[in-house]
Amino acid sequence: MPVPRIEPCVPDEACEQLRLEVREFLAEALAGHPAVARAHHWSVADPEFSRRLGERGWIGMTWPARYGGHERSQLERYVVIEELLAAGAPVAAHWTADRQSGPLLIRFAPETLAPKIVPGIVRGETWFCIGLSESDTGSDLASVRTRATRSGDGWVLDGTKTWISNAGLADRYVIFARSGEAPGAKGISAFLVDAGTPGLDASERIPVIAPHPLGTLRLNGCRVGADRLIGAPGQGFAIAMGTLDLFRTTVGAAGLGFARRALDEATQRAIGRRMFGQTLADFQLTQVQVGDMATQIDAAALMVYRSAWTRDVMGRRVTREASMAKLYATEVAQKVIDGAVQLHGGLGVVTGSTVERLYREIRALRIYEGATEVLQLIVGARHLDAARKAAS
Ligand SMILES: Cc1cc2nc3c(=O)[nH]c(=O)nc-3n(C[C@H](O)[C@H](O)[C@H](O)COP(=O)(O)OP(=O)(O)OC[C@H]3O[C@@H](n4cnc5c(N)ncnc54)[C@H](O)[C@@H]3O)c2cc1C
Repeated sequence: MPVPRIEPCVPDEACEQLRLEVREFLAEALAGHPAVARAHHWSVADPEFSRRLGERGWIGMTWPARYGGHERSQLERYVVIEELLAAGAPVAAHWTADRQSGPLLIRFAPETLAPKIVPGIVRGETWFCIGLSESDTGSDLASVRTRATRSGDGWVLDGTKTWISNAGLADRYVIFARSGEAPGAKGISAFLVDAGTPGLDASERIPVIAPHPLGTLRLNGCRVGADRLIGAPGQGFAIAMGTLDLFRTTVGAAGLGFARRALDEATQRAIGRRMFGQTLADFQLTQVQVGDMATQIDAAALMVYRSAWTRDVMGRRVTREASMAKLYATEVAQKVIDGAVQLHGGLGVVTGSTVERLYREIRALRIYEGATEVLQLIVGARHLDAARKAAS
């Protein structure tokens, strides 16, 4: 009888070897960054760290060699992200460029532009911002108000973007603006703007729960050449949505890294903490809680790895898989981290303790690049569409 085959979506030996290499590298690279000193900066921007990561080949991992990329699998990439975030590595400098801007430029930027810029991202030297969000348009990108007006042989950008990671630190900005080819989603275009371009002000910072280089971008008569249009006029929304598929899973991998770290911390605490004549780990209630955390983490890992597998092996678009992986892994991470804080008791809320930092750090991941509810809608709507088609 033929045995049905199921792809297990479990990293193979080579991937696990890569995981160990990353851990070894991080143990050495982060040795000079004591945890307490990094208490407020889990994801701080550290140019030297990003450059070293680039040297190791862990930025632009899946990109074509002609852009300096390393042509590795999505799975390997997610394993690296998982390890970086579990260790609290300072990834902010290259975080946007590696996950968002690089893939976007490779797919959509003019051939004259991408090969000049992308290799700098791979080396960890070129930092990027993506300017999608505006006040009241975060989840609803189709309603962006920033305007792009044709002028001479280029464009003039006017408007305000908010919640922009790396604002003021980045070398280059990808700005989504209403260019007016059609109402709504079909009238938005994407533009590349260099830091220092007259009319671009990135000086305003936004302090957040877990310090993160976040700011506001003001575009006031900001002029860019025609060669700075990414994709075709009116294609901006499709560009943003097409690339979101690719980078959403990376947020799932980040959540997975946070969750694994929280479980490690909780486990060590439960084993070491003595109370009522035994250890915290000896209580069945603790065992149930830890069992639940471990189970949910495994389920989240399988979702992240399935998204990688769907892309790497099946070569398919991953809108559904990436949405599920991001929403599930970040929600699980929040629950696991909360459980880890609880198991630490008072120590869990002391500023600078690892679980306290994780508790603050995870929160934004459930909001950016598609809030959980938005992703549930994507998954639910696709499921119902398929059911309707099947019924008709
Ligand atoms: C740390 C951080 C970094 C960020 N970096 C960037 C960046 O680099 N570039 C960029 O452009 N943006 C960035 N953002 C913005 C981010 O993408 C938005 O915050 C996000 O899209 C949500 O938009 P909003 O804040 O306007 O919330 P809103 O759109 O007002 O949504 C609020 C809440 O409403 C709910 N909701 C939304 N839509 C629906 C729906 N259809 N049905 C039911 N409920 C719904 C969700 O719970 C959501 O959290 C960042 C945000 C944070 C917090």
